[in-house]
Amino acid sequence: MKQEESYFVISLDFELFWGMFDKVTIPEYGERIQGEQTAIPRMLALFSEYGIHATWATVGMLMARNKDELLSLLPPRELQPTYEDMGVSSYRYIETMPIGRSEQDDTYHFGSTLVQKILATPHQEIGNHTFSHYYCIDGHKNSDEVFSADIDAFNRIAETYGVHATSIVFPRNQTSPEALHVCHEKGIRAYRGNENHFLYEARKDSSQSLFIRAFRLLDHYTNISGHHTYTIEKRGDGILNIPASRFLRPWSKTLSFLEPLRMRRIKNAMTHGAKHGEVFHLWWHPHNFGIDQEENFNNLTEILKHYKTLEEKYGMQSTSMSDLTKK
Ligand SMILES: [Zn+2]
Repeated sequence: MKQEESYFVISLDFELFWGMFDKVTIPEYGERIQGEQTAIPRMLALFSEYGIHATWATVGMLMARNKDELLSLLPPRELQPTYEDMGVSSYRYIETMPIGRSEQDDTYHFGSTLVQKILATPHQEIGNHTFSHYYCIDGHKNSDEVFSADIDAFNRIAETYGVHATSIVFPRNQTSPEALHVCHEKGIRAYRGNENHFLYEARKDSSQSLFIRAFRLLDHYTNISGHHTYTIEKRGDGILNIPASRFLRPWSKTLSFLEPLRMRRIKNAMTHGAKHGEVFHLWWHPHNFGIDQEENFNNLTEILKHYKTLEEKYGMQSTSMSDLTKK
């Protein structure tokens, strides 16, 4: 990668309800998951219009076409992860909660049509968000074989779509050196690390303090922790860390008067990256756009328009995570 080149990376954590079931219920959050049915095609159309190359880090379980296929992919019980709090385990969830037969009757857990739509759109990459929404830090007592079995299960379902994922986003951004080693052995060449600031370090999910959360929130509106743009030095054929620069928070009615500040903070960081030959990496979940779609899409359009001006002025390029490993 040449020093003067700047890149705009977008990654999405595509998980339907598999990334949320331990936090919220379907009555509480289901509308946002349903909203993905319209939000994802709309995002894809916008990405095509603005020439965006994005990475869709996808949970393997949602790629199953029906419940039989899902069950056939599960690793044997001794290779399924255990956690201190088994309430976060998708395997436990499958056993205890009603999952539908297929997308026909359950779009909270099955998303093969959406996967096909992503694959049918130019310059979109399907990345790995683990098979089971696996937690590397919460599940640090699991052996490498257990994590390996998860990646193998992801690769098995991905292959049925003709996909071999070479990038990964770790659920809740929980990374470990052991997990990275396994990923590298499985042919993964890039991952999304945390923002380079102590506010954004990977932590056990239960130890995220109120103090940290409050500062992170404030940091979305005003520049507390810096622009989070960076240069990437490639090192041999190792696994490339492409840290997140910013989470694109969903539009908030309560804080809507602050939205211009939030947009300005993102655009300033993009401009900084473009001017200095650096990477700016924006990420979100499609379900963040599940409701308040007009407001969320207005914000996204504003960001993509800004990218276009930076492309013209400074030659900033839109790249997926795997694209970036080839620069
Ligand atoms: Zn996730």
